[in-house]
Amino acid sequence: MNYQAIIEEIYTKVKNGENLGEVATYIPELGNVHPDRFGVHLTTIQNSHSFVGDSDVRFSIQSIAKVLILALAYKIEGAKIWERVGVEPSGSPFNSLIQLEYDFGIPRNPFINAGAIVICDILVSLLPNPKQMLLDFIREASNIPHIDYSQTIVESEKSMGFRNAALVNFLKSFGNIHNDIEVVLDFYYSICSIEMTCKELSKTFLFFANNGRNSFSKEPILTVSQTKRINAIMQTCGFYDEAGEFSYRVGLPGKSGVGGGIIAVHPNQYAIAVWSPKLNKKGNSYRGMKFLELFTTKTELSIF
Ligand code: GLU
Repeated sequence: MNYQAIIEEIYTKVKNGENLGEVATYIPELGNVHPDRFGVHLTTIQNSHSFVGDSDVRFSIQSIAKVLILALAYKIEGAKIWERVGVEPSGSPFNSLIQLEYDFGIPRNPFINAGAIVICDILVSLLPNPKQMLLDFIREASNIPHIDYSQTIVESEKSMGFRNAALVNFLKSFGNIHNDIEVVLDFYYSICSIEMTCKELSKTFLFFANNGRNSFSKEPILTVSQTKRINAIMQTCGFYDEAGEFSYRVGLPGKSGVGGGIIAVHPNQYAIAVWSPKLNKKGNSYRGMKFLELFTTKTELSIF
C-alpha cells in the first residue's frame, strides 16, 4: 500500500475543501493556534513513515493523553482500576457533572474528564513522582526523549478550570478521590498540556497497533489483552459524544483532543495522527474527521 501517495491525495482534497468549526478558546492558550494548521503522520509497525503538511509542528494533545495515563495505571494496577471507573460510553459531554450524580461518583469511562481525574488520582497514589514517571513512560514508549509538559497550557487551564475543580470535588464527596484535590488537579492539567507533533503522536501510540509491544525496543509495554481492551475503549468512548459517528465513518479505535489532534490505530498495521485545530460542534477536529474518513475509505482498511 502506497500510504504516502494516498495521504498526499486526501490531504490536498481536504485542504481545498471547507474548514468549518471553531478553535477551542475555553482554554485561552489554545485560542492562539493558527486555525489553518493541518498535518498528518502515519507510522507503521515496521517503522516506516508517511506524512504531509504541518506534521512536525507541536500542538497540545489534550485529552489524547487520557489514553496514556490509562495505559500506565492499567499496567501497574491491573483490573483493579475498573472498581473506580467504568468502560461504558457516556453519551454526554466530556465535562458533564450530571451523570456522576446518577452513577454515585463512578465515572462512565476513563476518557471523560471525571474518569481521567480518577485515573490521575490512582497514579498519584501509586507513584512517588507521577509527573516524571508518566513522562518516562511516554518517552520510552515513543522512543522520543524530549516529550514534555507545557507550563503555559497548565496555567491557562488552571485559570479557567472551574468545571474540572467542580468534578474533582464532586468525586471526592463520593470517596472516589483519595489524594489532595489540588495535587490531583495539577497532575490532570499537566497530562492535558503535553505537546507533540503528529509524528511524535503516531510513534507514541504505535504500541497500541503492535499488540502492546514497543516497535522500537521490541519490549512489551502492555499485555495483548490489556492492549485489546484499551483499543476497545478508544473505539467506544474516544470521541466525546461522537464515538458512534467516528466508528461509522472511520472504523478505527482512536482518541481526539480539544487541541484538534486525533490519533487512530489500526491493529497490526499503523498509528496515524492528524491535527487541525478547528473543532466541530462535538469537539472533534473537523478536518481530522474528514481526512480519516476518506483515508480508511480509500485504503479499504478498517477493523470492520
Ligand atoms: N484539558 C481539557 C479539559 O479538561 C481536556 C479537554 C479535552 O481535550 O477533551 O477541559
